[in-house]
Amino acid sequence: MKALNNIPTSNKYKKLSRRYIITNQILYLKRHMPKQNIENAIVIPKNLIQNVITAHHNPPLAGHLGITKTIKAIQIKYSWSSLIKDVTTFIKSCHQCQINKKSQGKPAGCLQPIPLPTCKPLDRITMDFLGPLPSSNNKKYILVFTCQSSKYVIAKATRLADANTVATFLIQYITQYGVPRYLTSDRGLHFRNKILNDTCTNFGIKQIFSSSYAPQSQGFTERINGVICQAIRHYIKDNNQSRWSFYLPYIIFSYNNSPQISTNYSPYYLLHGFNANIGIDIQIIPENLSYDIKKSLEELKQVRASIPDYIKKAQDIQKLNHDKSHKLTTYEPNQLVLVKFPFQEPNKTAKLAPKYRGPYKIISKVSDVNYMIELVLNNKLTIDVVHIRRLKPYFQRDNSDSSEEKEPTDIGN
Ligand SMILES: [Zn+2]
Repeated sequence: MKALNNIPTSNKYKKLSRRYIITNQILYLKRHMPKQNIENAIVIPKNLIQNVITAHHNPPLAGHLGITKTIKAIQIKYSWSSLIKDVTTFIKSCHQCQINKKSQGKPAGCLQPIPLPTCKPLDRITMDFLGPLPSSNNKKYILVFTCQSSKYVIAKATRLADANTVATFLIQYITQYGVPRYLTSDRGLHFRNKILNDTCTNFGIKQIFSSSYAPQSQGFTERINGVICQAIRHYIKDNNQSRWSFYLPYIIFSYNNSPQISTNYSPYYLLHGFNANIGIDIQIIPENLSYDIKKSLEELKQVRASIPDYIKKAQDIQKLNHDKSHKLTTYEPNQLVLVKFPFQEPNKTAKLAPKYRGPYKIISKVSDVNYMIELVLNNKLTIDVVHIRRLKPYFQRDNSDSSEEKEPTDIGN
């Protein structure tokens, strides 16, 4: 920086250069948000941009999360001038995301306000079963424990959805995370039984049963189930659904480690006070040998105290967006689109199957809501008229160099 000051440069560049700092030959963008506990960001050179985005979106540890979450996850650590634009273009043109995600704009049922967390992390745990799913390594269910305060999720693939399975997992949970004060669930018999009641009494846990199938009380767990199913869909190749249990631990990690849109912090951070590394981080970020744990814990305390405000703000914005009307969509001839198909393969669950097929080409507009489309079904070219509600635009990526995704290592769950 000193050298820069001696070179006769325009004021504009001098001003700009003050925003950066070089430490140990690494260029950082200075942060001006000390309250948000964000450290200076490493500036990423052009040739690494695609690697950084790919590493934060494609592999199982990243989980093909949406645009906002991926941008936030990258911004915490890295910076470059076109970050938001690059990530948006990358994800909009991600083939996996386009065929697996529901189209945007219909937040049906998402608007129930989430009760604000005021309790200590891990004091209140909600539990739920997801499944039955197609058998994977003999597992058919996912048992999900969620911390109501930090939204941290602990989940396990299980063979059965019965009392013994829940009690065993509760003890495993307690030996790692301690005893929760409250354990909330629906009134299903796998949660309401003598074995679990005895286990809870032994540890002094109060069991709370939500009124049966009340979506408000179980709303968050259900959203989590949606997140898990969507993420698993991304990594199941050729619709081979029997692989889901191998991916589950990676998906849970990716969910826990990504910033929540309502709070800006990841559940992992809210629980631990620092963010977890993914592979590319330990290659780019230098080791912090003077890590100040006391300072980090003080910052965490401040962050936790401000969470209810963040959630309130996010809810207000969500409502505002919802109240705006959706814009009218039209398609042009030759435009590429994805088409939603009803799922109908025997022995497979629609929950884990791709939602859309394509891309296919628009031939012409038949009416305001119907389009003539060139489809390839069972390797045969077919022309069909499709309703606009089953269509969404497909975005092609210019340089399709996203490296092949590797299967994760089996960690023997
Ligand atoms: Zn994707």
